[in-house]
Amino acid sequence: MRREGCTRIVATLGPASSSPERIAALIKAGADVFRLNFSHGSHEDHAARYHTVRRVAAEVGRPIGILADLQGPKLRIATFAEGKVELTAGQRFRLDLDLTPGTATRVGMPHPEIFAAIAPGQDLLLDDGKVRLRIVENGTDFAETEVITGGPLSNRKGVNVPHAIIDLAALTEKDRTDLAFALELGVDWVALSFVQRPQDVAEARKLVGGRAGVLSKIEKPSAIDHLDDIITLSDALMVARGDLGVEMPPEDVPALQRRIVRAARRAGKPVVVATQMLESMITAPTPTRAEASDVATAVYDGADAVMLSAETAAGQYPIEAVSIMERIICRTERDSLYRSLMMAEVPTHDETASDAVAAASAQVAETIKAAAIVTFTSSGLTALRVARERPSTRILALTARPETAQRLALVWGLHPVVCDDCREFDDMVAIACRVARETEMAHAMQKLVVTAGVPFGTPGATNILRIVRVEG
Ligand code: PGA
Ligand code: MN
Repeated sequence: MRREGCTRIVATLGPASSSPERIAALIKAGADVFRLNFSHGSHEDHAARYHTVRRVAAEVGRPIGILADLQGPKLRIATFAEGKVELTAGQRFRLDLDLTPGTATRVGMPHPEIFAAIAPGQDLLLDDGKVRLRIVENGTDFAETEVITGGPLSNRKGVNVPHAIIDLAALTEKDRTDLAFALELGVDWVALSFVQRPQDVAEARKLVGGRAGVLSKIEKPSAIDHLDDIITLSDALMVARGDLGVEMPPEDVPALQRRIVRAARRAGKPVVVATQMLESMITAPTPTRAEASDVATAVYDGADAVMLSAETAAGQYPIEAVSIMERIICRTERDSLYRSLMMAEVPTHDETASDAVAAASAQVAETIKAAAIVTFTSSGLTALRVARERPSTRILALTARPETAQRLALVWGLHPVVCDDCREFDDMVAIACRVARETEMAHAMQKLVVTAGVPFGTPGATNILRIVRVEG
């Protein structure tokens, strides 16, 4: 089962999308990577979803990535007796350390660090800024507030304190437990929330120890200040527009999205554009025009992937959301303007054999109108460098390692396939031709551009580019 487009889709799993039938339908509709959101759900829920994805992916025969998204030092309110309350502008509302279920006049907020960092007159933003509370009075274990912007407020909604610096570690106790659990399961990617400094990423990398790719979510002003160093230390990035747009004014988000995507693309690190892409589809079967345009904008920017959150986790139309996203992607990529935008961003090349071969493969494939570029990759690095070129030719990423194929499911334009290990040069040509035909990427007599490293099995040793014709 081959993907049509180049831009990948990340779909968050939740109560609306956990049955094997739903997961199979989401894959069929175009999902490439599933996100397990550790801000919600139990370890049991995540384990069940993890195993269902692996089983369904094996049946479908396409490598599917699994991303464990750690909550990070996200501040959240506790729960309500009724699950939800309605706040009215002008009323008083109290936040405290008491974890008894909340009411229309108070709720728990189990973060003494916030009470220590705030002062009367400051605002707390809840639920992605939808609800605004102004501090009237506070102590070490409570805050008395006035509701400035009211609305519904439900269990565990996020709290942002724009301008206060809250002294929190990069990974909370819960994150460490969740991380160990996710790595034990065997996830392909780990996402770090609320990264503030490069050290946060370095610290997490140590704990992950190469067992998964490390994706940094850019959602704090301080992460923007250290963007280049964070990109260098990360394996992938996410433009986490939900919290970014609360911590920063919303009008800053579009420019930041472009800047982050461009910087990540230059570095050859996969970048995901996330949050509210098809928000109205949580309750409607079709998107707004503005949402369709937003997905297309991320595609025109050359992002590796676009993400769905509540749309697939808890919405009424999870399959429809992925389907329409896939249609927008394919339609946008067919636009002639898309090609010229991809070509306008020519990356500068490192002085490495792998960059030289990656650039040449894109160029040669274009010149000879090859049906595909076939890249043998062990760690996935060579495939990433080819994808960075954003070539007009489809890319088959062949690897003997299932975990590499799954990790590469997040990357623009790559069609990862698990194949036998190559030992000889002739194996390589034979395997490339066989897989290209089996995946219907090439027919008999069409040409392929094949890249590999000799001796085989040495990571980072790509040094061969070969043009082959698929036998009849
Ligand atoms: P979240 O991250 O959904 O985990 O908050 C994405 C975002 O903030 O946009
Ligand atoms: Mn976030």
